Amino acid sequence: MDSKVEEIRQKVIKCTKCDLSKTRTNSVPGKGNFQSDVVFVGEAPGRNEDKKGEPFVGIAGQRLSGALENAGISRESIYITNVVKCRPPNNRVPTVSERDMCHDYLQKEISIIKPKIICILGNTAFNSILGGSEITKYRGKIVKKDERYYFLTVHPAATIYNQELITVLNQDIIKLFDLIRELKKGKQISIDIDYSA
Ligand code: SF4
Repeated sequence: MDSKVEEIRQKVIKCTKCDLSKTRTNSVPGKGNFQSDVVFVGEAPGRNEDKKGEPFVGIAGQRLSGALENAGISRESIYITNVVKCRPPNNRVPTVSERDMCHDYLQKEISIIKPKIICILGNTAFNSILGGSEITKYRGKIVKKDERYYFLTVHPAATIYNQELITVLNQDIIKLFDLIRELKKGKQISIDIDYSA
C-alpha cells in the first residue's frame, strides 16, 4: 500500500476527533486501489462495516460490487471511502459537525490518489462535497468544480428499499466507466453542472 494512504489509514484508525469515536467498534478507513481512476464516496459505515473495519462490506456493498461487475469492473480496481469514517449510532445521518471534523481525511485521500473522477454515492456525500441535494434528480450527471470532475449517483443502500434503483445504479456505473475511458483518451466530456463557470 502507498505509504501516504497507509498514514491516513492509521490516523483514521486512532482518530478521536469527534464523538463517533466513543460509539464505534472500528473506524473504517477507505480501501482499494490507490492508483484507481475513480474514488467512490459514500455516507458513513453501517453495522457490518463497523464490525469489520472495512467500507461497503454489507448489502449496500454487495449492490455496488454487483453494479461494478455488471460494468466489467473488479471491486479491487477501485478505491472506496466515506464522508465520515465511523458509524453514527443506529445508522443516523452524520451531523454537519461530524462531517466537517472528518472532511480532512477525505480531502487527503483524494489528493493522494488523484482520481480522474470522483463518484458521489447518495445525498449525504452530494451535500457534503458539493452542497447539493435531491440526488435522485441529479443522478447520472457530471459536475465540474475546482478543476475536478464528479459523477453523481444514488447510494447503493437506496437500492435495498427501492428495487427499481438497481437498474438506475447499474446504468450509472456503466456511464461512469464510459466517461473514464473518454477521460483517459484525453477527450473532452460534456459537463452537466459547472460550479467553476
Ligand atoms: S468520524 Fe472521522 S473525525 Fe470522527 S472519530 Fe471517526 S475518523 Fe475521527
